[in-house]
Amino acid sequence: MPVEERLKTLYQLQATLSAIDEKRALRGELPLEVQDLEDEIEGLTTRVEKIQADINEYERAVSQKKGEIETAKASVERYKTQLDEVKNNREYDTLSKEIEFQSLEIELCNKKIKEATFKIEEKKGELAQNQEIIDDRRQALEVKKSELDEIMEETRTEEEKLKQKVKELEVKIEPRLLTSFKRIRKNARNGLGIVYVQRDACGGCFNKIPPQRQLDIKMHKKIIVCEYCGRIMIDPELAGVKIEKPVVEEKKTRKRAIRKTVKKTDDEVPETEA
Ligand SMILES: [Zn+2]
Repeated sequence: MPVEERLKTLYQLQATLSAIDEKRALRGELPLEVQDLEDEIEGLTTRVEKIQADINEYERAVSQKKGEIETAKASVERYKTQLDEVKNNREYDTLSKEIEFQSLEIELCNKKIKEATFKIEEKKGELAQNQEIIDDRRQALEVKKSELDEIMEETRTEEEKLKQKVKELEVKIEPRLLTSFKRIRKNARNGLGIVYVQRDACGGCFNKIPPQRQLDIKMHKKIIVCEYCGRIMIDPELAGVKIEKPVVEEKKTRKRAIRKTVKKTDDEVPETEA
């Protein structure tokens, strides 16, 4: 495909992509807002799961401590029975110490249970609070989603057509050129990968283009990019864009007209003589 055709096709692709961008702009911040809400809900759900896991952990600890208390109580009972049958002071002291130790164990377990129960209550409060926020965000999400769906419904058909056109144009463009065009477009703030020359300047960044470069662009023999912004540049004529001639052009025409009149008079003089 000659450069001229490539540039033309690329420019058509740009126009189609820009039209899609416009449709997307119609949706405004809605897709982002929907995304944000979905992300927030996901984050909150993870948090709720974590809190629930913590509650389970504390509950498991409580029942474990309760089991330990039962064991300690049984030991105390056993030692107390043994206490009735002691034969000497040493045995009595040992058993008494065991009973004291087990009683302290029970006390400690009760303390742990109390702490864990407190934590469980605290976590349950947190859980309810987060659940409430999730419900609130879900409601907001529903509203935003239906708003977005409505807009999408309106523009879908047109957008599908444009997307189809993009596909058709893309296959016509050489893959390497297409890749670099896409890269330029992605990095450009206004989504323009190819721009036409406007008042001797790049139509993307509005930096002046040196005359030789402008000539090269007009030749349509090479693909030329703006040295400032890297956008591909196209001759407006090739792009099919009508550009209003600036005032300077008008003056030139007038000058030429005057010169012509002068020439005519010159020409006329010999004629009259002859
Ligand atoms: Zn530029």
